[in-house]
Amino acid sequence: MPMSASFAQRLLPHVHSIAQEFGTPFHMYDELGILESGHEFNAAFSGLDGFREFYAVKALPNLRILEILRNELGFGFDCSSTAELAMARQLGASGEDIMFTSNNTSADEYEQSLDHGGCILNLDDLTFVRKLPRMPELICFRYNPGTSNFGNSIIGAPRSAKFGLRHDQVIAAYTEARARGARRFGLHAMVVSNERRHRRMAAILQMLLEVCGEVTAATGIRFEFVNVGGGIAIAYRPGERPFKLQAFADLAVQLLDAFEREHGYRPKMYMECGRLITGPHGVLVTRVLNVMSKYRSYVGVDASMSDLMRPGMYRSTYNHITVVDRAGQELRGPLGAVDVVGSLCENRDKFATDILLPPVRENDYVVIHDTGAHGHSMGFQYNGRLRPQELLLRRDGSVELIRRSETVDDYLRTQLDFESRRFTPAGGSQRSRSIVAAPTASTASGSNSRSS
Ligand SMILES: *Cc1c(COP(=O)(O)O)cnc(C)c1O
Repeated sequence: MPMSASFAQRLLPHVHSIAQEFGTPFHMYDELGILESGHEFNAAFSGLDGFREFYAVKALPNLRILEILRNELGFGFDCSSTAELAMARQLGASGEDIMFTSNNTSADEYEQSLDHGGCILNLDDLTFVRKLPRMPELICFRYNPGTSNFGNSIIGAPRSAKFGLRHDQVIAAYTEARARGARRFGLHAMVVSNERRHRRMAAILQMLLEVCGEVTAATGIRFEFVNVGGGIAIAYRPGERPFKLQAFADLAVQLLDAFEREHGYRPKMYMECGRLITGPHGVLVTRVLNVMSKYRSYVGVDASMSDLMRPGMYRSTYNHITVVDRAGQELRGPLGAVDVVGSLCENRDKFATDILLPPVRENDYVVIHDTGAHGHSMGFQYNGRLRPQELLLRRDGSVELIRRSETVDDYLRTQLDFESRRFTPAGGSQRSRSIVAAPTASTASGSNSRSS
């Protein structure tokens, strides 16, 4: 949903003064919007006893945001790496507040996930049952149906996806886990991405409940929960219809009622949405550096694909763009087709191709919508383009810096600030201070903002 009228009203008139204070570019997140979406989400599922959302940390891994989601909305966290686990635990989450859904998991990740109060461990492969250093009481498996009913160009078709257990492996997985000491059980799937149809989400629940029924019949195991994953769409284009959350929740109640009638018990339902919760409540604010006429017309801004990968990475995606002047007024005038581009030496570095904009001038602000999930977190440093700052528009209207921009010092730290080591395979290793010269005063002070 291109930014809400309320977010636009609270942000756009102040864009210039915020840019003067913090510099550009920045991702700006809207606390009010996130809270509204979160409350609406919880309310939609209030008919489902024990329902819980485990926010997908990878969507917006910022401690300040995660703290809001945990403290104000009661969300748990869906983590898939040790760094994400560390963030969740730093905020006081542990045990059943965390689902750990890794794939191609390492021994170290198992250790980390089981230590420090543990988590709900979600195993992605049958071999992991034996590889786990110890079997926790509560265990979950990720299921891959292998059918072509799910998936799309972003997540891929289930049959060619690297995730989850094959259908014929499921009963063995639960039987072996129980033999190793597991006593409580869950079942998980994540098989769609940016899914618009609520019936598709209901079909995932139905599929999981069928698998539960099979396992229960074969083993007597009763499932404590099913986790239908995330992957719910937001409307990136103006006028697009939003996902019908309440209709999905109502179907979920019916499916769980039917399951209970047939099997005599009722699993809880969990979800792990990222995009739906925070996606629409973030924007990337950039400043126009150059207006250029080549074989096409270009508006060059001070952010690049490294600050927001989605438009350049996936064909057919769209992120809405608004251009405002220093007064926060949307530009007007005859429309012309332009590409909005960054500075990477890579031609996919475009936020938009052939979009119609009124005449844009240097120092106008180009606001790119829907960056509140899988935006900053997918960023990278290719070409020495450093990751941008993140700001939070608080409910009282103040603006809080919640992650600073990276500096040249940050970029060089892993090459300069470490104990260097030289290893000769036949002759052992020697240690010394970093072999590269320490930074000179001019690089050490490397500016932390790309403009002022
Ligand atoms: C990425 C991911 C999610 C969140 O996806 P959204 O599209 O942001 O809802 C949830 N679960 C798993 C396992 C994921 O990999």
